Amino acid sequence: MFQTAINNYLNTHHYERIELKAVLFDMDGVLFDSMKGHAIAWHESMKQYGMHLEPAEAYEHEGRTGAKTINIVSMRERGREATEEEIKAIYQKKCDIFNSLGAAPRMPGALEVLTKIKASGITPVIVTGSGQTSLLEKLNNNFPGIFDPQLMVTAFDVKYGKPNPEPYLIGLKKAKVQPNEAIVVENAPLGVRAGVAAGIFTIAVNTGPLPDEALLKEGANLLFHSMNDFNSNWDTFYKALQE
Ligand code: MG
Repeated sequence: MFQTAINNYLNTHHYERIELKAVLFDMDGVLFDSMKGHAIAWHESMKQYGMHLEPAEAYEHEGRTGAKTINIVSMRERGREATEEEIKAIYQKKCDIFNSLGAAPRMPGALEVLTKIKASGITPVIVTGSGQTSLLEKLNNNFPGIFDPQLMVTAFDVKYGKPNPEPYLIGLKKAKVQPNEAIVVENAPLGVRAGVAAGIFTIAVNTGPLPDEALLKEGANLLFHSMNDFNSNWDTFYKALQE
């Protein structure tokens, strides 16, 4: 069932096999059902600074660092980049609004699939554009014992952020694995682009309002419609990798 997707990846990259040692997980929209909140927070914070960003547009920017998103919107709305101070203020406002919405729930199916992955001796790694200070605590509360704090790539580790392959390349480095020893799990088009550009087998999980095509056209190797869907297919997929 998954053999075609796996073979296409192997042929493209001239690998013999995927020897799975690490799974690189995006966080928002994959591990947490948090994208609705981020979309509202982006819309409201930009509005307070006289700029317009539709909540739906936030999904298209998902994965970028806050500074990049602010600059793209600022260029469009005001014909100039935002100053360092504006970026700080807008991003802080965005975080305050997001936090005021209450904690985003864990994505259904995420803990279940992570538990299976971990039990197989595979290392789960977080690769997120988020720069929340409470990130570690949030992960520990929702996914106790799953993630190693040393094996995380956040906004603080990267210069470019997604869609540049950089965050995923850093993830490989931290996990001490090669591109064909990992897979990426992403919900955002720009995140899929980053995973594919890093040369890693990239699974898209479409948990948001964008059409599947938005993820497939970025080169996703496989697509699931939810983390529950990914979880129920995990055993079959993992077996297919070992064949
Ligand atoms: Mg995401």
